[in-house]
Amino acid sequence: MALANEQSVPAAAAHPRHAALLAQLKSSKSAKDANFIDESETELAERYVLPGAEKQAEEENVEIIAQLADEFTCASCFMVRHRSQLVREDGADKFCAECEG
Ligand SMILES: [Zn+2]
Repeated sequence: MALANEQSVPAAAAHPRHAALLAQLKSSKSAKDANFIDESETELAERYVLPGAEKQAEEENVEIIAQLADEFTCASCFMVRHRSQLVREDGADKFCAECEG
């Protein structure tokens, strides 16, 4: 009997902090369903950023910084190239050695 009970317990219940987070999310969701406007929803989303979402945002930042530092996007093949492959600029358009070669 004890074994059967253990198996039926949800994983979240075994981790008090996880369960608390779920409870928070649940209450914020039902509050939203009750009468919240979009602005409040955005606030809640920012306050309850999940670890996974935060990590994704960080990775995007790193990519942007790297491109600003020494990379460009070729206007012909749309590949991100290193600056050393920049052989022609036409206004805001940049072309890589592969496309121009
Ligand atoms: Zn190119």
